[in-house]
Formats: sequence, C-alpha cells, structure tokens
Amino acid sequence: MLVKPLLHEALCNGCGLCLTVCECGALVLVRNVIKIIEVESCGYCTECELVCPTGAIECPFEIVIEDSIEITIEE
Ligand code: SF4
Ligand code: SF4
Repeated sequence: MLVKPLLHEALCNGCGLCLTVCECGALVLVRNVIKIIEVESCGYCTECELVCPTGAIECPFEIVIEDSIEITIEE
C-alpha cells in the first residue's frame, strides 16, 4: 500500500509553500487547491506538512510498539 499525506483541501489557501519543498514533484495546485498527482513518487519526508501554514497537510505516523525486552542485571 502506498502511503501519502492526508490533504485537507478546505484548509488550503493556495500559497504554494508545500510545492517549493517537495523534491519529488508529488504535489500540484489545481485552481489554488492542493492535490497529489504522483503518489508513487512521494517519499513521505513530511516536509510539506512542516511548511504548511494552515494545517492542510497531515502526515500521520503509525506507532509500532515492539515487545518489551527483558533485561537482567548481574551483581
Ligand atoms: S511528504 Fe515529502 S515527498 Fe511526499 S508530498 Fe510531502 S514533501 Fe512531497
Ligand atoms: S502549504 Fe498548505 S496552504 Fe499552502 S498550498 Fe500547500 S497545502 Fe495549501
């Protein structure tokens, strides 16, 4: 499954900042609203989320909790 940023289009003001940081060319503005055109090329770097001033882009991470490791301290 390809992972891509979540876009909240209603929050996008069309400033274009996210386009300037996306090195993969995955984003585009269509009538001043953000869209993803190249999901395959998105490296999920989260830079677009960081620069977006309106919170229109969200890159959620799945938190995986590994099994606890048993540690033995010898005296
Ligand atoms: S996560 Fe990175 S590669 Fe993907 S759309 Fe955002 S800036 Fe581009
Ligand atoms: S940085 Fe945010 S508000 Fe600006 S174009 Fe991108 S998604 Fe829209």
